[in-house]
Amino acid sequence: MYEKSKQLFERAQKSIPGGVNSPVRAFKSVGGTPVFMTNAKGAYLYDADGNKYIDYIASWGPMILGHAYEPVVKAIQEKALGSTSFGAPTALEIEMAELIISMVPNVDMIRMVSSGTEACMSALRLARGYTGKNKFIKFEGHYHGHADSFLVKAGSGVATFNIQTVPGVTAGVANDTLTAPYNNIDAVKKLVAENKNEIAAVIVEPVAGNMGCILPAPGFLEALRTICDEENIVFILDEVMTGFRLAAGGAQQKLNIRADLVTYGKVIGGGMPVGAFGGKVAIMQHIAPLGNVYQAGTLSGNPIAMIAGFTMLTELKSNPSIYTELEEKTIYLKNGLDEVLKAWAQPYVINQFGSMISIHFSNHAVTDFATAASANNDLFKKYFHAMLKRGVYLPPSAFESWFLNNALTYTDLDETIRKTKESLQEIG
Ligand SMILES: *Cc1c(COP(=O)(O)O)cnc(C)c1O
Repeated sequence: MYEKSKQLFERAQKSIPGGVNSPVRAFKSVGGTPVFMTNAKGAYLYDADGNKYIDYIASWGPMILGHAYEPVVKAIQEKALGSTSFGAPTALEIEMAELIISMVPNVDMIRMVSSGTEACMSALRLARGYTGKNKFIKFEGHYHGHADSFLVKAGSGVATFNIQTVPGVTAGVANDTLTAPYNNIDAVKKLVAENKNEIAAVIVEPVAGNMGCILPAPGFLEALRTICDEENIVFILDEVMTGFRLAAGGAQQKLNIRADLVTYGKVIGGGMPVGAFGGKVAIMQHIAPLGNVYQAGTLSGNPIAMIAGFTMLTELKSNPSIYTELEEKTIYLKNGLDEVLKAWAQPYVINQFGSMISIHFSNHAVTDFATAASANNDLFKKYFHAMLKRGVYLPPSAFESWFLNNALTYTDLDETIRKTKESLQEIG
C-alpha cells in the first residue's frame, strides 16, 4: 500500500537529513513511513502509491479553502508570466498591505516576510528595539517558529521529539526567554515581578495549536493585556495559525482582544511561503528604513507569493460565511467523534475552537503543555495509523491541531466519524 513512499523515503534519507525538510513530516512520533504526496484537490490528498486521503492538516493551515483552489492557482499562473521576482517594490505589495489592514484590527502598518518564523523573530526584535528591554515571556508548548529565542520549552516538532534544550541555542539567548505555563496568569505575574522593567514582550498563541488545540481560559488573554499595559510590555499575538482562520480578523476579532504587534503566516500566503508582522504606527515606525530596527528580505513581498495571498484573502474577506460554515462542520465532526469515542473504553478529551480541533487520549482536561504531554501517546499512534490506512490523513503527532478546510463535505465528515469507529474497534 505504501511501496512507492517507502522507496522514496529510503532514497530521501541519503540526501536530506531525516528524509524531510521539516521534522514533523518524518512520522517519527507515530512511527512508520511518511507518505509522499503527489497532488491534491479540494479536501483530498493523493500519494505516490495512488492512495487517496481526506486531508485534516490543510498544509498546516493555508489550504483553508481546499487544495488547488482555482482562483489562487490561476492568479499564480498569470502572475508568473510577468517574472517571479524583481527585488524592487510593486503596486501589488501596497494592495496586499491595504487588504490586510482592512481585514484585521489594530494593524496600521504591516511588513511582509517569507515565513511565520521570520515574522515572530522580527516582531520580537522590534519589541526589544522599541522598549529597549531584552527579556520576553513565552508559554510552554507554544511554537513561534525556529528562531533561537523561541526554542525554549517550545511546542510542535520540538515537543513531538521531546527536545528539552536545543543544542546550538546559546545560554545567553535562552536566559532572556522566560517561560510560563499557558493559562496560568499567576506564573506570568511572578515573572513580571521578578524581572521588573526588563521584559520587552509577551508573545502568545491566542488559541494554542502546537500542542494539540488548547483554548485560552476565560479572562486569560485579557489579563495578559492588562499586565502588558501596566508594565509597558509589548503584547504580541502570534496569529500565524489563527490569523484568517478563526475569522477574517483572526483571534483579535474572534476573541475581541487587542495586540500591540501581531504576526501572520500560513493562510496569509495561500500556500506560498509568506509571513507578516504588523501593528500600530508608533511601534512599526521603528523598523528600517523608517527606524533603526533592521529587518529585510530578498524575496519579501515576492509577486507570486503576494498574488497567491492576495487572492486567498480577497476570497475570505468577500465571503465571511466561510467561517460559519467551517465552524459548523468542525462542531459536527466534534459531536460525531464524541459519539463514537464515548462508546469506547478509553478516556479522551476533544478540544475544539473554530476550525481547529484535536483529540487527546487523556482522563483529565487538556489546558496546558503538562496536561497535553501526559496524554496517552501510544493510543494516538495507533489511532493515527488506523485512520491513515483507511484514507484519513490526520496530523502525525498528538502535539498538532487538525485544521479543517471548507472543501470538506458532510459526507467526508461522516466517513471520518465512521472510520474512527472502525479504527477504535481495531485498536481495542
Ligand atoms: C507554524 C507556526 C509558526 C512558524 O511558521 P513557519 O512558517 O513554519 O516558519 C509560528 N507560530 C505559530 C503559532 C505557528 O503555528
